[in-house]
Amino acid sequence: MSAEREAVYVCPECGRDFTEPGKCPDHPAEVLMDGTDREVLFYLMRCDDQARNKVYAFWALVCFVAGLALGAAVGYGLYAWSGGRLPGRIYTWLFVGGGILGGFAGTVVARKLFRPRFRKHTRRLEQI
Ligand SMILES: [Zn+2]
Repeated sequence: MSAEREAVYVCPECGRDFTEPGKCPDHPAEVLMDGTDREVLFYLMRCDDQARNKVYAFWALVCFVAGLALGAAVGYGLYAWSGGRLPGRIYTWLFVGGGILGGFAGTVVARKLFRPRFRKHTRRLEQI
């Protein structure tokens, strides 16, 4: 056995690693990338960043809309309960506040759900 660092070939689609170059059995359209090449690691890190941005944008938008709807529903309930005696700006604030809180909740959800595919490999860049 040589002391040389073991070669790592990474599938750019699923992040699985292999010891031999070639193709990922699950993604035959993708050629495995050399996981010891810094340029490749930077590329994989960019892929993770783009995927993270998409997940955050998606959940922030979904939860923003849900927050608006929830704020409107609470406002409607309050309006019905009070018989419309409360000042109108309360409903506006419920609506806007629901959207803001929803957008914030979306980033929390995204942080919980997002798993970077290539973290296992790109972690090496931080150790250099
Ligand atoms: Zn794959």
